[in-house]
Amino acid sequence: MTILNVESRRPTTIAAPPPDWKVRAFCRRKDVDAEDFFTTSQAGQKRAHAACAQCPVITECLQVTRSHDEGVYRWGIGGGLDALQRRALELEEWLGCRPNLEMARLLISPRWSGRLSRLRSSCRSLEGMTRALRRDGLMVDEVTVRVAVWWSGGDAPRVAWRGDTRSLRALVGGEFLEPILRLRSMGARYADIAAWLGVPRETGVRALKDTLAGVEEAS
Ligand code: SF4
Repeated sequence: MTILNVESRRPTTIAAPPPDWKVRAFCRRKDVDAEDFFTTSQAGQKRAHAACAQCPVITECLQVTRSHDEGVYRWGIGGGLDALQRRALELEEWLGCRPNLEMARLLISPRWSGRLSRLRSSCRSLEGMTRALRRDGLMVDEVTVRVAVWWSGGDAPRVAWRGDTRSLRALVGGEFLEPILRLRSMGARYADIAAWLGVPRETGVRALKDTLAGVEEAS
């Protein structure tokens, strides 16, 4: 099994942030509690995500936060994403899908955030949201929409499952089998792939193990 050098896969799509970017950070305000960015409390995490969503340097922060992430070890909320979301983003990039962060920022701007919010309610999948935004004239791809949904406080699961193990197994063994096998061959853990799919860890790991065991038996 080939283990990727994760560091070498870091995105280079946006320029290095200017040295003074932190001066404009929303979390420097006195009414923002720094502990919210490292807490296990859901209320605190929600406040941290909300602060990031208003931050003018969210793209710069995400770039710098990711450069500090090490392999599977990452913690805290930075650049609007929590550790699990950054891990899922890493796997997106292993598959060659890199977000356009400026476009993602446009999607959470006052002009587009209402539309994004309505699509989050009406579409069951990232694919559907992306198609709708393209019809609106925005050249977006699924990973860019995924980051925008994360930034706006949504879940953005990659699979449109019904919340039960059976429908998840059908997707894992069907349309998502090829990328999952690629991720496994590159060294991704089951838990990482569950994060990439956007499903709860325990359910996702179980579905992945069962399905891939069946595939190995059949081959
Ligand atoms: S994106 Fe979030 S963590 Fe980063 S500087 Fe802005 S408020 Fe702080």
